[in-house]
Amino acid sequence: MAELVVSAPEPVLVPVQGGGFFPVRRVYCVGRNYAEHAREMGHDSREPPFFFDKPADAVVIDGAPMAYPPQTGDLHHEIELVVAIGKDGAAIGEHAALEHVFGYAAGLDMTRRDVQAAAKKAGRPWTMAKGFDQSAPIGAIAPASAIGHPASGAITLSVNGAERQRGDLSDQIWSVPETIAYLSRLVTLRAGDLIMTGTPAGVGAVRRRDVLEGQIEGVGSVSTVIA
Ligand code: MN
Repeated sequence: MAELVVSAPEPVLVPVQGGGFFPVRRVYCVGRNYAEHAREMGHDSREPPFFFDKPADAVVIDGAPMAYPPQTGDLHHEIELVVAIGKDGAAIGEHAALEHVFGYAAGLDMTRRDVQAAAKKAGRPWTMAKGFDQSAPIGAIAPASAIGHPASGAITLSVNGAERQRGDLSDQIWSVPETIAYLSRLVTLRAGDLIMTGTPAGVGAVRRRDVLEGQIEGVGSVSTVIA
C-alpha cells in the first residue's frame, strides 16, 4: 500500500432509492438542452451539444444546505435530470446507450450567472461559474431497474413554495441516449459518472435562506436551503 503524504479525499456517495450508495467519479453537464432556456439565454438554433463539468465533491446530498458561494451576487438555480452511469464505455452507440445507465435523479446545476456572463464575454472557461464548492445538490438516485428510462414527464423547481421553472423531459433538444453517445465519443464514460442534462426555462436568482425544491415526475426530488 502506497504511503499517502496527505489524507485521501473522502469518496462522494449519493444515496440510492431502495438502499445503497452511488460513488461519484465525475460530474458532466450539458449546456442549453431545452429550446426555451436556450432562447432565454440568447440562442436560437439546434447546435451540437456542448459539455462542461463540476468536481465530484461539488455534490451536495439531498436535504443538506448549500452555502451561498463567494464572488457572486447572482446565484441562479437550474433544475436538471441527472443520469447516473453504471457501466463503462467509449463511443457508445445510441441504441446501446441506455444499457450504460444505472439510474436517474433530480439535481441542481447552481450557477454564478454574473461570473458566467463575464467569462462568456471574455471567451474564458466557465469553470468558476459552474464548478464551485457545493454547486451540485443531487437527490437520491432512482435505479432504472425500478423506474425504467423516463423520456417524458414534468420537471419543475419551486423557491419558497412558488414555482419558478417548469418543463418536460420530452422537450430536451438532445435525448439521454443521444447525449451519452455524443459525450462518450469525447471521453470514456465510467461507472460512477453523473451527467446533468440541462435545464428548462425559468432560471433565476436565489438569496440566502431560500428553500429550493425540485421535482421530476417518475424520478424523484431534490431540495436544499441556501445557507
Ligand atoms: Mn445547466
